Amino acid sequence: MRSCAPGGNVLTGIHILLTLKCTNECEHCFLHCGPSREATFTIGQLRTLIKQIKELGTVSIVYFEGGEPFLFYPLLLEGLRMVRDAGFDAGIVTNGYWATSVEDGLYWLRPIRDLGIVDFSVSDDEFHRLDENDRRAEFAREAAQQLGIPTCTICIEPPSVSRRPSEEYQGKPVVGGGVLFKGRAAERLTVGLPLRDCKELTTCPHEDLVSPERVHVDAYGNVHLCQGLSMGNIREKALPDLVHDYDAQTHPVVGPLLRGGPICLASERGLAVSDSYVDACHLCYTARKLLLPHFPQYLAPKEAYGL
Ligand code: SF4
Repeated sequence: MRSCAPGGNVLTGIHILLTLKCTNECEHCFLHCGPSREATFTIGQLRTLIKQIKELGTVSIVYFEGGEPFLFYPLLLEGLRMVRDAGFDAGIVTNGYWATSVEDGLYWLRPIRDLGIVDFSVSDDEFHRLDENDRRAEFAREAAQQLGIPTCTICIEPPSVSRRPSEEYQGKPVVGGGVLFKGRAAERLTVGLPLRDCKELTTCPHEDLVSPERVHVDAYGNVHLCQGLSMGNIREKALPDLVHDYDAQTHPVVGPLLRGGPICLASERGLAVSDSYVDACHLCYTARKLLLPHFPQYLAPKEAYGL
């Protein structure tokens, strides 16, 4: 069995971005997914990926997400079958658009229940609902529960501003709501929010970039450490070798992030950025988008940057 990387963690979870196509174009989407996106796994690509995941020897769970994976329902089912046959636990993330009623949802979910999944996550919040009468996510959840499928809800609130009287924030306004300001959120949801001096943005607050426990893999073969920040591509080097050979310190984007966060990335690469950003991800995404032409193999796919 191979370890993930020279760090402490082992790669135990793979999230397959089955497609970047989605029914919605949510403002908070990290990957700029939407109806016009095309990148979708073929069955052959899925087979190859699952074989490589097996060879890696450390993974225990494989998720299917997107985009919206139910848009390619036969592919989702076959992928799930392959993942289960390979001995992995499986999970799915969906917005539940397909559940026009609980009864309807039962038809979609029975084959999935029969294959067996350990997590069925439904995105259900203001960003995903068409309007206040849209109950499809609720129907999907209810159908899953009736079938005994382990279910949970992903709910992201729109950004809100509050003042926290803590020492850390010294009464300054802080942004809440759970949105991470990367991808489309960095471009559409940051307007009017309080800003932080970019000299404070010295760490990556959300990802283990040295030895991640989970990565996302898209239909182009990119292995995402964070959305749009790739360890490498499994079409060029098979996943077990890619993971084994990965050196965070020498990665041209991750290295600076580890040395001093997004502000270090911007300064080491000589980027002209503003003095202040909403948070570390806002600056990181902005800097990475500016660096796209220089590191297209590591800042991929271009869709993650709205292109
Ligand atoms: S700081 Fe950058 S790498 Fe870290 S979570 Fe935010 S966008 Fe991702």
